[in-house]
Amino acid sequence: MKTIIEPFRIKSVEPIRMTDRAERETLLEQASFNLFALKSRDVILDLLTDSGTGAMSSEQWAAVMRGDESYAGSPSFQRFEASVQEIFGFEHVIPTHQGRAAEHLLFGLLGGAHKVIPNNTHFDTTRANIEDSGAVALDIPCEQAMDTASSYTFKGNVDLEALEACLIEHKGQVPLVMVTVTNNAGGGQPVSLENLRAVRKICDAHQLPLYIDACRFAENAYLIQQSEPGQAGRELEEIVLEMFSLADGCTMSAKKDGLANIGGFLALRDDSLAQRLRERLVVTEGFATYGGMSGRDLEAVAQGLREVLDPEYQAYRHASIRYVADRLALRGIPVVRPAGGHAIFLDAGRFLPQLKWNEFPGQALAIELYVQGGVRSCEIGSLMLARQDPETGQDLPARHELVRLAIPRRTYTQSHMDYLLEVIEEVWSRRATIAGMEILEAPPVLRHFTGKYGRLPVVPAAEAQPIQ
Ligand SMILES: *Cc1c(COP(=O)(O)O)cnc(C)c1O
Repeated sequence: MKTIIEPFRIKSVEPIRMTDRAERETLLEQASFNLFALKSRDVILDLLTDSGTGAMSSEQWAAVMRGDESYAGSPSFQRFEASVQEIFGFEHVIPTHQGRAAEHLLFGLLGGAHKVIPNNTHFDTTRANIEDSGAVALDIPCEQAMDTASSYTFKGNVDLEALEACLIEHKGQVPLVMVTVTNNAGGGQPVSLENLRAVRKICDAHQLPLYIDACRFAENAYLIQQSEPGQAGRELEEIVLEMFSLADGCTMSAKKDGLANIGGFLALRDDSLAQRLRERLVVTEGFATYGGMSGRDLEAVAQGLREVLDPEYQAYRHASIRYVADRLALRGIPVVRPAGGHAIFLDAGRFLPQLKWNEFPGQALAIELYVQGGVRSCEIGSLMLARQDPETGQDLPARHELVRLAIPRRTYTQSHMDYLLEVIEEVWSRRATIAGMEILEAPPVLRHFTGKYGRLPVVPAAEAQPIQ
């Protein structure tokens, strides 16, 4: 059959409260045009993030009931540990309450002043934890990652020459190399097995450990299976084992490909490092057999890690994201290609070419998607990522002006995606009249979470620049 259906039936539902456009305009004013300030009950389609927002399966709920809340030696931990060991092949499994806690532990021991940690692109919490330790977080994505319209398949790859150069330049200062699968900041783009093997070789030559940020490991493995030469006939489990056999350890947020609402872990091979990490764990997270999680959370993740490797689930997930991205591209709506594993990224810089970067086209577009249909998305552009010029102190634009529509796992259906397409098309048809945004109030760091914004005056349709 050509139609790829949601490979599940729905057993429990959560009503969506409908709002109308006038109500949404009022709610936006009250939220100072910051979508993080909206209440989730005022959102129709919530595509703010795919983190911890997925639906659990009946087997996960059944596992929750088996959760054993003993402080030490809980069988729930044994099931969690066995899942991680089997799937990733690492001996030591250290549970944490989410991904950033695993990062905090790792960089607390291996980071520090004068250290440099390269990665294809550090996720924002990874960067924050590295910088918090006093180290430098260096991004070295491959060249193809810069072009949002390029259809190169493995845009998540590490720039191997830049990695070599970094290890030579910072000899003795690099405690480990990291690779993020999939590369979230770069549009959810996958890393190829070939690239991972090459990174391993370089690490071996410099005798350095390699750690994988594993948050979307299954989506990355699926994209390898589908697109990498020679990988088509392999099972996802086999590909995952090979990916992680190339690494010395990984950090993981179970809120992504753990199919759970909370949880994470750090897994590794090094006995003495694991020992030291467990000593830190008990100070900041909890005892070694629960970390920051309850027994029922451990159970939900143990089961979720197995379900995420179901080929039917992966086929459906990627099909639903491709469905939206392909239709947008067909209509000429600027979208990052190819569609990655967890989100659709609109290129707001090309969607609203009449706006300068400091009129925040990404935020303007995100606001219009909410006005039009109650869709909540996330700006990933100059509002979130503008950097300061170290010399002049002036703000510099982000590399791209994007709006991310993150798709929660197993939560929305095809008709929700059709609705999303209609909302985007309606906004596209009136794009010439969409005005920019201004910042009214913002803290110096992570301003997108709490900033207050205003709309610049709307350009009357008659005077609007024609758009090719
Ligand atoms: C979400 C995420 C993290 C951090 O995990 P949390 O559970 O949110 O702390 C780290 N790296 C990547 C790639 C992520 O997507």
